[in-house]
Amino acid sequence: MSAQPEVVQPEIARKQAYEAGKLAKRLRHQVGQAIADFGMIEDGDKVMVCLSGGKDSYTMLDVLLSLQAKAPVRFELIAVNLDQKQPGFPQHVLPQYLTERGVPFHIIEQDTYSTVTRVIPEGKTMCSLCSRLRRGALYHWAAANGVTKIALGHHRDDILGTFFLNMFYQGSLKAMPPKLRSDDGRHVVIRPMAYCKESDIADYATHRQFPIIPCNLCGSQENLQRKAVSRMLHEWERQHPGRSETIFRALGNVAPSQLVDRQLFDFASLGTREGAQRADAHAWLAGTESDNHS
Ligand code: SF4
Repeated sequence: MSAQPEVVQPEIARKQAYEAGKLAKRLRHQVGQAIADFGMIEDGDKVMVCLSGGKDSYTMLDVLLSLQAKAPVRFELIAVNLDQKQPGFPQHVLPQYLTERGVPFHIIEQDTYSTVTRVIPEGKTMCSLCSRLRRGALYHWAAANGVTKIALGHHRDDILGTFFLNMFYQGSLKAMPPKLRSDDGRHVVIRPMAYCKESDIADYATHRQFPIIPCNLCGSQENLQRKAVSRMLHEWERQHPGRSETIFRALGNVAPSQLVDRQLFDFASLGTREGAQRADAHAWLAGTESDNHS
């Protein structure tokens, strides 16, 4: 009777190791694909990996490190954390982890916590101001230290959540781009995990046993609208598996002539003489070009 667990346990462990290997491979593949699709990293780049201590940024760093070891191009990685001076922030956790792994890192110390708690009335969500201040501190450090790319740990489900938040509450069709130039024009921000599912990242972080630091030390309430959208997406996914992936694919498969944005598509000249002339000119040019190539 007692022999049974001994037989079963190694089998379970073997299966778990196999699944973890598959998951790691999938995340590496998706990150590598996003980097290639959006030209995120080039030879000679110095990539600042923004590390908050949450599951997403640990996973991003881990996957980028393994891709760096095999990449055909040479690029530098530096992990940067902002110590916002929240009460109870375990300052030793990240330096210890990064030192053990031999990852170059820097900790920026800036008391954004006091500013946020002073400016935002009690009981209100602080995340928006907190993120703005955090971004400012990180961008400032990047500019002073020759960083060419700033990597953020947002994933596919963050992109989808932002898409629906903008649609429901801002009346605009926009999400979170995998690559962008910062508002001040000085930085290129990349999101290498744009293709990765949050549940995969959570499983990976558990398997790798990252020393997670919670992001609620400040006592802020999580954004309720974002929470509601996230619940909606989970429910859809539960009822119709694969729906999130389909919506995500739609974000990369836009047909401006089938929407109603007059800035994106010239509806006004459709069917007018001017429009017809322009269409003729396009057709003629296209014909000339194909003649030239033949
Ligand atoms: S939970 Fe706290 S630390 Fe995290 S973004 Fe919001 S205000 Fe900032």
